[in-house]
Amino acid sequence: IRASFSVVQDEEENFNGLITVISDVTEQEKVERERREFVSNVSHELRTPLTTMRSYIEALTDGAWEDKEIAPQFLEVTQNETDRMIRLVNDLLQLSKMDHKEGAMNKQKVELVSFVENILDRFDMNKTDVIGIERKFPKEQIKTRIDQDKITQVIDNIMSNAIKYSPEGGKITFQLAKEQNRVKFSIKDQGLGIAREKVDKIFDRFYRVDKARSRELGGTGLGLAISKEIIEAHHGHIWATSKEGQGTTIYFTLPLKNRKRGNQK
Ligand code: ADP
Repeated sequence: IRASFSVVQDEEENFNGLITVISDVTEQEKVERERREFVSNVSHELRTPLTTMRSYIEALTDGAWEDKEIAPQFLEVTQNETDRMIRLVNDLLQLSKMDHKEGAMNKQKVELVSFVENILDRFDMNKTDVIGIERKFPKEQIKTRIDQDKITQVIDNIMSNAIKYSPEGGKITFQLAKEQNRVKFSIKDQGLGIAREKVDKIFDRFYRVDKARSRELGGTGLGLAISKEIIEAHHGHIWATSKEGQGTTIYFTLPLKNRKRGNQK
């Protein structure tokens, strides 16, 4: 808290009173600190692929380009690092759009059960993962207004995390449940889990429980931060519970339109 005092005088410079302004700067300082941390994180995240690329390009220039075995490998590394940077910059652009409320939602009425079924069918098609997806869906239809592309992105992100952090053959349970005024999604995996004190942080920008592992798996550390922005733009909530060694469940809710009183059948 910051307090500032000003003496109020009249025209003859007689003391007339005192104005005290007490302002809460903690919030301001927090925003400023977060901004600095964010810029420093972005710089670091961009510098890492750039320095990797520089050393591989240097090696190629120094003669590795003539080696038919090594040259393609080195080029592949630079390509992967370029892809990583593109992913990162795209994620950053999306976050910045949402910050400025530019990323306006394009909401349409959608039936959620079939909407989610379609997304999960796509995951089932990619038989690269030996992971079963169990679906627990209600029989009834659930209709609400959502931005389909954005909610697809949220589900894609949560599902690919669940797959990434699951053991081979692990099961993922996708549940949809209609509650009073909202629909609750939960995606449960049998993966390595997250320590209790870290679980809320996974929605922070650039937070990763294991930096090296996330990097290796191609992550930017922004997926869940973007998901959180999208869910909150839909007036929903997103959170996680987890037990180390046993698995993680990510939950999110979307509001269902309240039927107007007197309009119910
Ligand atoms: P990333 O690109 O690193 O996956 P995310 O924002 O999607 O970034 O996730 C942030 C971090 O949360 C991940 O790096 C990982 O440590 C942790 N995490 C997310 N989902 C899971 C999960 N299903 N099981 C274990 N850890 C997870």
